[in-house]
Amino acid sequence: MHVVVLGAGVVGVTTAYYLSRHGCDVTVVDRASDVGDGASFANAGQLSYSFTDSLAKPEFLTHIPALMLGRDEGVQVRLTPALVTWGTRFVGQCTRKHARENTLAVLKIAMRSAELLAQIRDALPFDFWHRKAGKLVLLSSQAELDAARNTLELKRSHGCDTRILSRAEAMAVEPALEQVSEDIAGAVYSKSDEVADSQKFTAGLKDWLEATGTVKFRLSSDASKLIARNGRTHAVVVDEEPLEADAFVVCMGAWSHELLRTVGINPHVFPVRGYSITLPPGEAAPSVSMTALRHRMVYSRLNGHVRIAGFADFRGFDTSTDNERTQLLLDLARRYAPHAADYDADDIKPWGGFRPMTPNGQPRVGQTRSKGLFVNTGHGMLGWTLACATSFDAARAVAEAH
Ligand SMILES: Cc1cc2nc3c(=O)[nH]c(=O)nc-3n(C[C@H](O)[C@H](O)[C@H](O)COP(=O)(O)OP(=O)(O)OC[C@H]3O[C@@H](n4cnc5c(N)ncnc54)[C@H](O)[C@@H]3O)c2cc1C
Repeated sequence: MHVVVLGAGVVGVTTAYYLSRHGCDVTVVDRASDVGDGASFANAGQLSYSFTDSLAKPEFLTHIPALMLGRDEGVQVRLTPALVTWGTRFVGQCTRKHARENTLAVLKIAMRSAELLAQIRDALPFDFWHRKAGKLVLLSSQAELDAARNTLELKRSHGCDTRILSRAEAMAVEPALEQVSEDIAGAVYSKSDEVADSQKFTAGLKDWLEATGTVKFRLSSDASKLIARNGRTHAVVVDEEPLEADAFVVCMGAWSHELLRTVGINPHVFPVRGYSITLPPGEAAPSVSMTALRHRMVYSRLNGHVRIAGFADFRGFDTSTDNERTQLLLDLARRYAPHAADYDADDIKPWGGFRPMTPNGQPRVGQTRSKGLFVNTGHGMLGWTLACATSFDAARAVAEAH
């Protein structure tokens, strides 16, 4: 069976891997000149298996006026019809019941993903800077502590080792916290969470797949249209030529909607821009991954670098404010943890990427209503964390449908 995977981010390449294990002959198409060039390029690298809390929750509703007035520096909003449509669905998910269901659904995917990534690590011979770093989510107020307790028991009852630490306990886990400039009321600690570089993983997996001869990569190739007849997708237009196959899996992250709409399917994936800066470590660089919840900012230690990532801008595919947003991220990160990184280094690498967000925070995986057409998209803030499990599921859905 010939399967075309559209998109060569961490999700597309991992999908190709699992398809090859089902004996499929796979072609991966991407318009970029290399794999992992979209949101998978310089994300925070956190494998946040225990931190799957839904963004859509009742507390978000009370925060909307502040967002609209521009009072949250971690979020920018530009109202468009597409955002209103997506936002209406998102707001519908902001109930306690939905938040709990969505957190749990993503948690289950994340926990399976941890096992699958461990299997890939054992089986395949490439390095992607993987480390069992643990993760501390730093809380700055009693309200944040109370909100964290809401999901803690839910997670623990499903096998997570997450617990709440006092300030002193958090300092004992990560002595670099002594240098943090703001008050820490406590922290949520997940000892088993990991870090690794998703671009290195994607590139290493691509090289390995090419070497095995089961997967071909057509890079610098634009997929512009799906072609369906009698309820079945039988081709995709790539660089203006039809490419036929038995099945197609759309893994185009934030751009998935652009291709799927050509056959009338809307996956309700909205681009939410975030940023990262990669710097040399400072004299108090944390070893444990840490999230400053109030500032929507995370610090990860990746192979001798510190990567700081954050923000969530709902401005469509607009990139015009990238310079000011990465500068703000740098300034905030420096103010919050002045010795975590060498903020004055010459080789600071700023980056921006579009998270493919669904209203309920759950990825879209499996068969669409068009036969032969499958999706594996909408991984939002956790695409690296969830990629192995959703790709395993997408490949199985393709194999079972034929
Ligand atoms: C700042 C930031 C920090 C993050 N931190 C983390 C983290 O710590 N942990 C975590 O789990 N997740 C994190 N994420 C989320 C994660 O990066 C994404 O969910 C994930 O990378 C999505 O992967 P993907 O393969 O679906 O999409 P992408 O990596 O965006 O890949 C989509 C691909 O589709 C291709 N494409 C688009 N249009 C076309 C076309 N017309 N024809 C051909 N190809 C096309 C693109 O070139 C791209 O390569 C973060 C995201 C951001 C932005």
